[in-house]
Formats: sequence, C-alpha cells, structure tokens
Amino acid sequence: MMPVVALVGRPNVGKSTLFNALTRSRDALVHDQPGVTRDRHYGICRPEGGRAFSVVDTGGIAGDEEGLSGATSRQARQAAAEADLVLFITDAREGASALDAEILAWLRRSARPVLLVVNKSEGLNVQTVLAEFAHFGLADAVAVSSAHRQGIDDLIDEVLERLPEELPGPEVEDDPGRLRIAFIGRPNVGKSTLVNRLLGEERMIASDVPGTTRDSVAIDMERDGRSYRLIDTAGLRRRARVEEAVEKFSVVKTLQAIERCQVAVVMVDASEGVTDQDVSVLGYALDAGRALVVAVNKWDGLDDYQRSQAQAMLERKLAFVEWAEKVRISALHGSGLRELFAAIHRAHASATREFGTAEVTRAMEVAVQSTAPPSVGGHASKLRFAHPAGTNPPTFVIHGNRLRVLPDSYRRYLENFFRKRFKLVGTPVRFIFKEGD
Ligand code: GDP
Ligand code: GDP
Repeated sequence: MMPVVALVGRPNVGKSTLFNALTRSRDALVHDQPGVTRDRHYGICRPEGGRAFSVVDTGGIAGDEEGLSGATSRQARQAAAEADLVLFITDAREGASALDAEILAWLRRSARPVLLVVNKSEGLNVQTVLAEFAHFGLADAVAVSSAHRQGIDDLIDEVLERLPEELPGPEVEDDPGRLRIAFIGRPNVGKSTLVNRLLGEERMIASDVPGTTRDSVAIDMERDGRSYRLIDTAGLRRRARVEEAVEKFSVVKTLQAIERCQVAVVMVDASEGVTDQDVSVLGYALDAGRALVVAVNKWDGLDDYQRSQAQAMLERKLAFVEWAEKVRISALHGSGLRELFAAIHRAHASATREFGTAEVTRAMEVAVQSTAPPSVGGHASKLRFAHPAGTNPPTFVIHGNRLRVLPDSYRRYLENFFRKRFKLVGTPVRFIFKEGD
C-alpha cells in the first residue's frame, strides 16, 4: 500500500508550492487531464528509482481559513494523524513563530514521525537557517526552497528513509478473478447504505477479508455470477465493526482505497448537489488514473422539477469528467444497481483494453487528416507516429516535432478523437508526447 506523507504548517509557508514541487510530473511533455483546472490537494510523488508515496497538502484541505483553527481544521488534523510521515513546513524568512510552536505541540501529541522542512531558504546559510529552529528540539530538519526547487531531491531522500518498510507483497493477495471496487465519497452520500444493500441482496455470500495493516478492510461479494472485492470504505468498516463510532471522512483512507481498487465509484448526493469535496474526491481518482463511475444517489427523494435541476447541475459541475458514466441510483430502494454494475464493467473493460501499434498510429493519422495541428506563430507541430504505452489508464505515446507548440485545445481534440474511435468510457486517457523518434 502506498505510504502517505502529510504537509502541515501555518498559512503562507509554502505548502502548496512544495506540494507542486513534489507531485508535479518531471516529464513536462506528459499531458494528463486536459481541461481540468482545479486545486489539487492530493497527489503522488514518484521519485526516480524510489518508492512512490502519496502527498496530502493539509493546508489545501483546510481551505482558506487563517490561523491555527484553519491550519489545523478537523480534516487536516485527521489526515496528519493518519499519515506515515508529517512534513512540518516553516518559513526561513519569518523564522519560528508562535503559531509554528502551537502546531508543533499538536503534532507531538499526534505521535506521528515528523520531519522539519524549513522552506524559502534560497540564498541563506543552511546552518544559520536550521539553527533558528533548533529550539523546537526536532532531530531531523531539511532546508529547501520549494519555489526554486532547491533541496527537493535531498528532501525526497530523507522522506524515503523514513517511510515504513514495504510489506512483502500486497497485504492480502488480490485475486485476479475478483474485480476490486471502492465506493468513495464524502460523509452521508449513502456509501454504507449501498454496501449494506449489496451485501444484503446477496444474502451475505460475503466474507470479510482481514487486513494486516491499519484498519484496512475488504469484503468479497458475488453478484450475478461475478466476483468482486469491495475495498475499504467507511461503510465497510461500519458494517465490520458495528460498535465502532460513526466513521468520519478520511482523506488518507480514501486515497488508499483508490490506490487499491480497479474501479472507483464516486458517490454524490443528488439532493445536495456536487460539492467541492465531491470534486476533490473525483480529482484524486483522476490523478490515480483509475477507471471511474459516478453514482448519483438518493434519486428517489426528488420530484420531477428537482430531477431536472439536479441533472443540469451534474452536467455543469461534472463537465471535467464528461467521459465518466453518471448512473442514477437509490441505495435505499436498490434501484439503478444493475445499471451501476454494467457501467462499472464498461469502465473496467475500457481501462484495460489492449491496443496494437498499427491501430494507434492509424487513429493518430485519421485525427490529423481530419484536423491538422494549428500553426502557432508560423510553426505547426508535426505528429509523426504513435504507439500504445500501457493500460489502466490507456496511455498513448505520440512522437513528432515542435510538440511544444501543440496547443491544449488540440490535445483535447486528440483525446476526444481517441475516446470516440476506440469507444473508451469511464477511464482517463493519457498521452505522452515525445519530441523526435
Ligand atoms: P501555503 O499557504 O503554505 O500553501 O503557501 P504557498 O505555497 O501558497 O506559498 C505562499 C507564498 O510563499 C507564495 O507567495 C509563494 O510564492 C511563496 N513561496 C513558496 N515557496 C517559496 C520559496 O521557496 N522561496 C520563496 N522566496 N518564496 C516561496
Ligand atoms: P455514508 O456516510 O456515505 O456511508 O452514508 P449513509 O449510507 O450512512 O447514508 C446517509 C443517510 O442518507 C442515511 O440517513 C441514509 O438512510 C440516507 N440515504 C442513503 N441512501 C439513500 C437513498 O438512496 N435515498 C434516500 N432518500 N436516502 C438515502
């Protein structure tokens, strides 16, 4: 399971800048998620030759609130408390502040391993910078400049040294014959109602799969002759341990469920609309490249007028995942579930479809014949050939010249063209553009 690193610190120390430095793909030509502009608070750092880890910007989770209450809002605190390592970010220019000390006191109580990161230290003497924070009594400290990408590689090395050891193999052997599904979403959208409904319908041909780390729980289920493993959700935990207090939304557990599943079903509540939190859960599933289905729950509670309103809102707010199927369901009454599972299988089939080089190059040629890359300042990109580069999500490499001037609009055109031609639904599609051969 991918370890989780949380970035904690008061506002303006540079958490989101550091987050970007850690999670931004090094290959500037990799173009994923065209058309999506949004704040990302969860991402993955993939160090060269090292183990990948998830990064959570708790400042981003906390929103724009100022002060300690904002910097350590409940969700941010929870994310930090569940992380494998906390990076406590401070500001070399401002030095140690009272708010830093308060956050540190709280971090000590949470008992997670902490690495002090003194940001904005470009042009300053590292020893002097670190001495300023010596009274914090933290044994481990690194000086970086996130804005100038200085010290980031050293920081990553320090992080890798402190992550828990990788368990030999997956904690529970995942049976390739079972499709792994995670039902995720903010609290109260109906995840546990749905899971309980599914398990109840199948008269409990379900068995708990014990996890060996944390509270990871999965339940196996058969439905219409197919085998599934339902991955770690609040709903599962509530069912597994009835006495447990109502589970709150957990960013870290949501990330882990997404990592482990093959199809992420993001549930939203039709009666409440699509919230920012729904969008960020969707965003993480996108970043992870997961096959995706949106289950629009509580459809039963709406009258005709509300339904048309809800429909318009879904189209508007979920335009950035236009390719994901939105299935209207009622977890309470069990309606729409057959359609939901059909969409899950379509998404999985698209995500795992294998391609041949000939059909991929042909698709590129037909796309270019129908609309050529536009000329930008007298130069147009030339796309030369293409080949498949993997599944889950489907990834295509396009080789060509002057690709730097290929506009985003054209990249989107290519993506839509490939989607249509290959009938890909419910999966992100990635393109890697390579200059030359
Ligand atoms: P956050 O509120 O902790 O997420 O902080 P931001 O990442 O939004 O950064 C706050 C401000 O500090 C922005 O104006 C950044 O450009 C600036 N900043 C971030 N990293 C550095 C750095 O390494 N050096 C300098 N000089 N400024 C930085
Ligand atoms: P979770 O926090 O996502 O697991 O949400 P729950 O399954 O606990 O559901 C939250 C509330 O929504 C409960 O009161 C459920 O009875 C209600 N609920 C769940 N699904 C539906 C549905 O399909 N229709 C309606 N009307 N209510 C639902």
